[in-house]
Amino acid sequence: MHELSLTQSIVELAIEHANREKAVTIRSITVEIGALSGVVADAMEFAFDVCSKGTMAESARFEIRHIPGRGRCLECHEESELETLTHICPLCGCLALETIEGQEMKFTEMEID
Ligand SMILES: [Zn+2]
Repeated sequence: MHELSLTQSIVELAIEHANREKAVTIRSITVEIGALSGVVADAMEFAFDVCSKGTMAESARFEIRHIPGRGRCLECHEESELETLTHICPLCGCLALETIEGQEMKFTEMEID
């Protein structure tokens, strides 16, 4: 399961950072999931419960921000919102669409105590 290993590495990173800062506990972890990243938010939330159990991140709030997908057409140069990786411009119907946002999954913020 893709989300499990992703979440595992986020939890490890967060704990590493918290230890470096001599924190006692992690209060929250925020990640951004792009609509085109293929990462399933629900699966990630579940994975977080599993991965954080017994660690200093156990009681942390796990926040997921959804980033919409965006593409730019190389033909008509219009930008449009994308929900899937179709690469078809919804405006002119051509296939020369480049993705400009929404493909990434990022660990963006955390709060520690
Ligand atoms: Zn177009």
